[in-house]
Amino acid sequence: MDAITLSAYAKINLTLDVTGRRPDGYHTVRMVMQSVGLHDDVTVTRTGTGGVTLACDKPFVPTDGRNLAVRAAEHFFACTGLACDGLHIALKKRIPVAAGLAGGSTDAAAVLRALDTLYGAGLSTDALCGMGLALGADVPYCLVGGTMLAEGIGEVLTPLPPMPDCWAVLCKPGFSVSTAAVYAQMNGGDLPERPDTAGVLRALQAGDYAGVCHRLYNVMERVTARAHAEIGQIKDVLLACGADGAAMSGSGPTTFGLFRSEDKAHKAYAALRRDFPDTHLTRMQPGWGR
Ligand code: ATP
Repeated sequence: MDAITLSAYAKINLTLDVTGRRPDGYHTVRMVMQSVGLHDDVTVTRTGTGGVTLACDKPFVPTDGRNLAVRAAEHFFACTGLACDGLHIALKKRIPVAAGLAGGSTDAAAVLRALDTLYGAGLSTDALCGMGLALGADVPYCLVGGTMLAEGIGEVLTPLPPMPDCWAVLCKPGFSVSTAAVYAQMNGGDLPERPDTAGVLRALQAGDYAGVCHRLYNVMERVTARAHAEIGQIKDVLLACGADGAAMSGSGPTTFGLFRSEDKAHKAYAALRRDFPDTHLTRMQPGWGR
């Protein structure tokens, strides 16, 4: 086999809590992560000559060593000791960039999986997650996907019962936020309000869709929403169209609503697309399994 194409799925945060800061400066988190069907296509081809190259259909995405997919490939060869006999990565991006949806991390995870297959390395998911963590805190989750509790800096993963199937409308307003700047305002995890993570875990255990939707909560939302009125406006439209719950994902600015009703989800999608072209209609996505 010389080439492989994988779907690299985006994630949303059903909850996001910042619980503290480690001596090395990394923040510790507690978050319920969920994959969604919105995905990039990642094609990895063994070319037989040269180093690692990358092409992307979005001109503003870097194609050199700044791209996490390129770094993933280089890290794979460095860790395994396997010789790179020329590799080309083609990215078809659908996931909004710098959006709180782990777009770069999921591409990197797909490259690690693809290389494991193409080179017959036979690495365990744990070994791949160890490699992925060196690339970014969300990469281990992206290697596994589905509904997961992520703790530590995001790499301590506990599988959860799947989120009951529903529609999601994801809306990225036309500005980007700096993840580092948002973390800097997290007061080392000393926060006045936190998500009811235990309540979300109970609701997932019981298959209680409404119980999850009522508890969607992201501690970073307050910071980003204070600086950008669009977050509140998008939530208002989602809820007015009948979303069962709405929240910002990651450090933002993508804001999403969950819907049991396909009709209401379509209406919200159509309403938001008028003002925000980077709006997507998708569903919950199961994980890869371990
Ligand atoms: P996270 O949710 O993990 O914080 P994000 O969704 O907010 O990630 P990304 O889409 O990964 O953010 O993009 C963050 C930055 O990384 C962008 O400014 C982009 O230039 C760079 N980048 C590197 N590799 C990629 C990639 N494969 N796809 C998109 N952006 C990438």
